[in-house]
Amino acid sequence: MGGTFDPIHFGHLVTAEEALVQFNLDRVVFMPTGNPALKVREDVTLAEDRYLMSVLATASNPDFDVSRMEVDRPGLTYTVDTLRALRDSRGTSTQLFFITGADAVWEIVTWHDAEKVADLATFIGATRPGYDLDAARRAHEDAETRFRIEYVEVPALAISSTDIRQRMRAGRSIRYLTPEPVVTHIEKRGLYREVG
Ligand code: ATP
Ligand code: MG
Repeated sequence: MGGTFDPIHFGHLVTAEEALVQFNLDRVVFMPTGNPALKVREDVTLAEDRYLMSVLATASNPDFDVSRMEVDRPGLTYTVDTLRALRDSRGTSTQLFFITGADAVWEIVTWHDAEKVADLATFIGATRPGYDLDAARRAHEDAETRFRIEYVEVPALAISSTDIRQRMRAGRSIRYLTPEPVVTHIEKRGLYREVG
């Protein structure tokens, strides 16, 4: 599961858990981006903080891991490189799934090396409330892409990192939107106090 994770929140965690159970996965690897190729926001929090918050949020789940692969890789991050590295380290008998937001799945077609990404992984698109799953499946069939896309329905997840950052700037509570150790880390490091 790739993302900026700025910060990680319960939306990400519930999605990962749903994917794990529904698709009988061995584990979910959270992959915070290093220097994101597509992120437009200039002031993304230091990768080390985003990595640490991901570790704090997932520590209690034995089926969740956090990878430093993209954080430690210099230059722009491309998902195809990450998937290749995962395939090389885990072997070709390991089936890879790329968990992402359902809306984001449709942007993936425009990615650098999109076809190669499709050869390496099956997509799992997490749908937010109100998402028309049948329409998405129909659109996928019509598009005749080589992309394999599965969907998971994620309950009650209007949570976003953007909202959490805005709340921090406005001095509003972020409790119960992200695990407590993440809240503590944000306060300790004084994250999200400035515009971002
Ligand atoms: P931002 O608001 O900064 O865009 P975000 O909350 O969307 O952050 P990302 O780090 O961009 O978080 O998301 C990582 C992945 O998780 C993306 O594929 C995104 O679509 C997905 N995602 C984010 N929030 C949710 C949610 N509440 N439910 C399901 N999937 C989510
Ligand atoms: Mg996002």
